[in-house]
Amino acid sequence: MELQADVVVVGLGGWGSNALWRLAKRGVSVIGIEARSTAHDQGSSHGLTRLFRVACREHPQLGPVGLRALELWDELGSDTRTVQLTTTKALMVGSYGSETIQGSLAAAEAAGIKTELLAHNELRSRFPQYGNLDPDDVGLLDPFGGINYPERAVEAATRQAVELGARVLTGTPVRSISDDGGGVTIETDADIIRAEHVVVSAGCWAPGLLPELSDVLQPRRMPMFWFRPAADTDSFALPQFPAFIRDLPSGSGIWGHGSGPGHAIKVGMWDDGTNFEDCDPDTIDRTVTRERDWQQLSGLVAHAFPGLDPEPIEAKMCMVTDSLDGQFLLGRLNPASRVIVASGDTGHGFKHAPAIGELAAQIALGETPFVDLDFLGPARFAANRLLAKPIGR
Ligand SMILES: Cc1cc2nc3c(=O)[nH]c(=O)nc-3n(C[C@H](O)[C@H](O)[C@H](O)COP(=O)(O)OP(=O)(O)OC[C@H]3O[C@@H](n4cnc5c(N)ncnc54)[C@H](O)[C@@H]3O)c2cc1C
Repeated sequence: MELQADVVVVGLGGWGSNALWRLAKRGVSVIGIEARSTAHDQGSSHGLTRLFRVACREHPQLGPVGLRALELWDELGSDTRTVQLTTTKALMVGSYGSETIQGSLAAAEAAGIKTELLAHNELRSRFPQYGNLDPDDVGLLDPFGGINYPERAVEAATRQAVELGARVLTGTPVRSISDDGGGVTIETDADIIRAEHVVVSAGCWAPGLLPELSDVLQPRRMPMFWFRPAADTDSFALPQFPAFIRDLPSGSGIWGHGSGPGHAIKVGMWDDGTNFEDCDPDTIDRTVTRERDWQQLSGLVAHAFPGLDPEPIEAKMCMVTDSLDGQFLLGRLNPASRVIVASGDTGHGFKHAPAIGELAAQIALGETPFVDLDFLGPARFAANRLLAKPIGR
C-alpha cells in the first residue's frame, strides 16, 4: 500500500514513542512504525525503572533538557492518568572535584536549579546504607531526581499519540529509508510511505538502518540486576534509599535506587569501556551468567552497601547504543537532510525521552529547538567517513 504523512517515526521505544506523541500533539500527520510490539523487552527501554536526574553529570546542557523532560513527564502523566515519575531526590556521591559532583553542579547551574551539597559527615549520618565511603566523598542531592517507568512510558506515549491522531504500525520492520531531496521514502514489507521528514529512533538498530551511523554508534550488551537487603529492613526502600550515582575506588562506579511498589532494589555498574561487550542487536546472547555478567558487580555492591545481599535476585538483558563521545545523536544527518536521527542514547537517555521527542519534533517541523543542539548534532562527527555523504543518493 502507498501511504503519506508529514513525518514518519521509525522505532517506537523510549525516544520514538515520545517523538510520535510530541508530533501528534502539534496536529501534524504522523505515522509511527515499530518492528516489534509496543513496550517490548528486546531493545533498551524495558526493566521497570530508570533513574531520573536534572543535574546530569554527563553534560551541562543536559540540565535544561532534563528540566524540560520533567515538565513533559508531568504532562504525559496527567494526559494519560499514569504515574510517569516518582520524585525521591537523586544522590550523587564522589569527591568534591570529581566529574560526578562537578558535572552535576554544572548541569544544575545550566538548568537554574538548586542542589544540596552534603559534607562527608552529613552524608554518612543521613545515608547510613553507604558503606566504605572514601574520606573525600561528599554528596549532592538533586531535588528533582527520582525514577521513571520505561514500559509504562512507551505504552502511554504511544497510546496518547494515537488518541491525538497518529497512526501506528507494529510488527513492521522498516527495510529502507531514502531521501531524494524533495521528500523521504520509507519501505516496509507491505507499504511504501512518502513523507516530508523521517525521525529514525531505532536505538541499537539505527546503524543497521542508516549505514552512515556505523562509524559513530556502537550497540553494547548491558544486563541489569535487582538485589535485596541481607536482613529484614526497610532502609533500602524508596525514598530512604533514593536514586543514586556513586564513584568507587579505581575509577569504577555504580548507580541504582531503592525498592518500591512492584520492583526490588536495582544496582548497576558504569560502563568503563571494558566491563560491557559490543553486540549485534539481532544476535545478542541474552543469557546472563555470574562469570560473564555479575561477578564484578557483586564485589562492588558488597563494598558499597554492606547491608545488601551481593547476590542478585533477578537479572535481565538490555542494550545501550554508545556514541563516540558519550553524548546522544540528535539532529539532521547533514544540514540538507530530511532524515533526523534520534539515537545513540549511550546508556543515559531514558530520563530525557519526552524532551528528546520534543526536540525531534521541533527539528522536523523547522521550529527553534528549546536548547542549543550543537553538542548533540551529527555535524560534530562530520569528519567521519560515511556521515559526510548525503543519504540515499
Ligand atoms: C541496563 C540499563 C540501565 C539504564 N539506566 C538508565 C537510567 O537509569 N536512566 C536513563 O535515563 N537511562 C538509562 N538507560 C538508557 C535508556 O534505557 C535508553 O537511553 C533508552 O531506553 C533508549 O531508548 P531508544 O528509544 O533509543 O531505544 P529503544 O527503546 O531500543 O527503541 C528503539 C526501537 O526501534 C525499533 N526498531 C529497530 N529497528 C527498527 C526497524 N527497522 N523498523 C521499525 N522499528 C525498528 C526497536 O524495536 C525498538 O523498539 C539504561 C539502559 C540500560 C541498558
